[in-house]
Amino acid sequence: RAKRRGRGRFELFDEELRARAGERVRLERDLHRALEREQFRVVYQPVVDVRTRQVVGAEALLRWDHPDWGTVSPMEFIPVAEESGDIVAIGEWVLREACGQVSRWQQRWPEFRLSVNVSGRQVAEPGLPERVAAILAEEGLAPGTLGLEITESVLMEADGDPEVILARLREAGARLLLDDFGTGYSSLSYLKRFPLDTLKIDRSFVDGLGSEDEDSAIVAAIVQLASTLDLTVVAEGVETEEQLAQLLALQCDLAQGYLLSRPIDAPDLERLLGDTPEPVLRAA
Ligand code: C2E
Ligand code: MG
Ligand code: MG
Ligand code: MG
Repeated sequence: RAKRRGRGRFELFDEELRARAGERVRLERDLHRALEREQFRVVYQPVVDVRTRQVVGAEALLRWDHPDWGTVSPMEFIPVAEESGDIVAIGEWVLREACGQVSRWQQRWPEFRLSVNVSGRQVAEPGLPERVAAILAEEGLAPGTLGLEITESVLMEADGDPEVILARLREAGARLLLDDFGTGYSSLSYLKRFPLDTLKIDRSFVDGLGSEDEDSAIVAAIVQLASTLDLTVVAEGVETEEQLAQLLALQCDLAQGYLLSRPIDAPDLERLLGDTPEPVLRAA
């Protein structure tokens, strides 16, 4: 009996595995065609000054609208696109799309800043700095308008010399933001080696602000460190007034999170900027 049940379960598991493998094959295949089928769109999450709550910029976040599955999370499809290599073309599309938007916004709000996430595969592409420079020139963006968000793991896994690549990206006119800061391995040595502009404190530390002493201590330390190293610091994933109050007390510069705004589409962001008198404060 036990044996039969065991085997039955095994078969069920096997079927499940096969179904999942099939889904993965379809995911890869559909993802490969998503660009030409125009299934991608970019949403923008406002980044605000912690003291004034004015919007100083936004983070571009990619969305994939699949005809059968609805909106697929980037957490699901970005790793797949990384593996297949499609991320290179997709990433370039995001850059163009987002820079095109911000070039329009910049005419009205000259200090507005935008950041775009880039993945390991993109950073490893030899032509990225040239392409970034070309896009900035085509869209007429002021240097420093575009920021590139890079995680520690991307730097860790980069073959070639990440210091050289980052320096070239910066020469091309991009700011560099270290994303999900604190979750990687060698954070501190990276701060010393790489020409960074901004640290983004990972959401996992912001979560417990005001309720967990460890989180408050870690955020306080990161803000201190950033200030000493003359880096801007952004807190990610702010969901409560309590967290924002703590960030204000700790003198964190900027914040983003559902409390302030969810990621929204371009027209909504324009409305948000238009509704606020002098929405964009200054280069933070
Ligand atoms: P990330 O760059 O760390 O982006 C922040 C994520 O946190 C976004 O998820 C955002 O929607 C979410 N978020 C913002 N505020 C809150 C909050 O208050 N609470 C919670 N629980 N979440 C919040 P999203 O858009 O699903 O993106 C997930 C990840 O996918 C991003 O993490 C980034 O690593 C990657 N990603 C997104 N767009 C792109 C892209 O265009 N290119 C690449 N290479 N990666 C991307
Ligand atoms: Mg990011
Ligand atoms: Mg992040
Ligand atoms: Mg993250």
